[in-house]
Amino acid sequence: MSVSASALRKKTKIVATLGPASADEASLRAMIREGMDVIRINFSHGEHEEHRTTIELAQRIAAEEGRVLATMCDIQGPKIRIGEIPDEPLELFAGDAIRFQLEGDGSNCISLPHPELFRDAQPGMQLLLDDGSLELTVEAAQPQLLECRVVVGGPLTSRKGVTAPKASLQSLSAITEKDRRDIEFALQMNVDYIAMSFVRSEEDIHELRWLMRHLRKKADIIAKIEKHDALQNIVEIIAAADGVMVARGDLGLETPAEEVPFQQKRIITLCNEAAKPVITATQMLSSMIHHPRPTRADASDVYNAIVDGTDAVMLSNETAVGQFPVEAVRTMANISVIAESHQLESGENASLRGRPAGGKDEISDAISAASYEIARTVRPRAIVTATMSGYTARHIARGRPLAPIISLTPLPETYRRMALVWGVQPLIVKQFNSIESMIATVVRKLHEEGLADPGDVLVILAGTPFGFGGRTNMIQIHRVGDAGELDENGAEFAAEEV
Ligand code: PEP
Repeated sequence: MSVSASALRKKTKIVATLGPASADEASLRAMIREGMDVIRINFSHGEHEEHRTTIELAQRIAAEEGRVLATMCDIQGPKIRIGEIPDEPLELFAGDAIRFQLEGDGSNCISLPHPELFRDAQPGMQLLLDDGSLELTVEAAQPQLLECRVVVGGPLTSRKGVTAPKASLQSLSAITEKDRRDIEFALQMNVDYIAMSFVRSEEDIHELRWLMRHLRKKADIIAKIEKHDALQNIVEIIAAADGVMVARGDLGLETPAEEVPFQQKRIITLCNEAAKPVITATQMLSSMIHHPRPTRADASDVYNAIVDGTDAVMLSNETAVGQFPVEAVRTMANISVIAESHQLESGENASLRGRPAGGKDEISDAISAASYEIARTVRPRAIVTATMSGYTARHIARGRPLAPIISLTPLPETYRRMALVWGVQPLIVKQFNSIESMIATVVRKLHEEGLADPGDVLVILAGTPFGFGGRTNMIQIHRVGDAGELDENGAEFAAEEV
């Protein structure tokens, strides 16, 4: 089997969480061929050595398949969990009184080793346990004791998560001791993205950036939006982070699940405006955990997130522990191709075309915006960006152009990071040092990859002088010339400007 037609055609990127169902060679190879673009390693589970083996294996297979693959490590963050329950499961019934202590014995009094929660708790506060399956109300709160009433009962087992939707828990550090060890490991592995859980404000992002500077390593930061506070501070968080994940699992506990679709659309729109990649995550194809075909509701969910403007759609349990990980990736890729064909025809996101993003560099923004005007008239085979940082590619992708966006870079880390950005096909090239050598490299590389033929028009954007990154100040419309231009050794330049 070779790379599937949908994997080659789709523009929306697929993030797949790896786990026991997918970390073997055959599954990884099949998922890459079906269109997986980013692997997600969830640090809430597993040991570093396991993660090392999985990341190395996945990257080796991607190289063998000639496909780009980014690695994203998802750091657990300050997730609040109850302690051990010796005689589990403990059955709780609606109306029962139940007590939590910093160090409870697990039966009469459940242990909850998080002093911050005791500090923030107020009578009347709602507590959700085990992903919201159980609901309690706090009746009395003391520094070391919470007295609660069960509203929705059920079986409770050890170490289940606790969500306090109305508590902001400001005293809880965004980066725990475990997170710090995991971040060091992820940076040693040169991962491309670190997804930060339970972000509350841009300060949390600055703290992670400071830690990376201290460790003298860098990865791009994806802010997971799953807390009520993050929704209040969303504009600043998007500005501070390199990308965003709509983490619908925990978000649906912190806010009513009924509100999640609205928040998803709002966050995606704000990320599109700011040209920051956005991932829509959790329960996208959960029917495929146990079935080879999706429910119509799941298929619609993936389709709608793409129409909303998401850069990437994410698989969690479907690929980590599900029975059909390869089929789940294939299904997402097929839905993407169908959604994009209708979306691009009807001009969704067209309102962002030609409108500068107001980013850090006005000249780059203006050139990216102008490329749409030009593309509308000359109908290029591709929009090509020569990039060090990926900035221009993200700004072109923001307007969801019809033409493929080809991003050429000499930097392996930029090459891999582009795997997350909607519509961008990254290619790795040698560093060029003049406009002539850049155009020659672009044309030859695209021809080699079957992405350009003689007579095709390319819209090429780059930043000069070369090798510095972060500024795009040149746009050229180039018609691919005859064999002289395409020949590796062709000294003669047969390029024809149009
Ligand atoms: C989520 O809550 O939707 C999510 C992606 O985070 P996690 O899987 O770490 O709970």
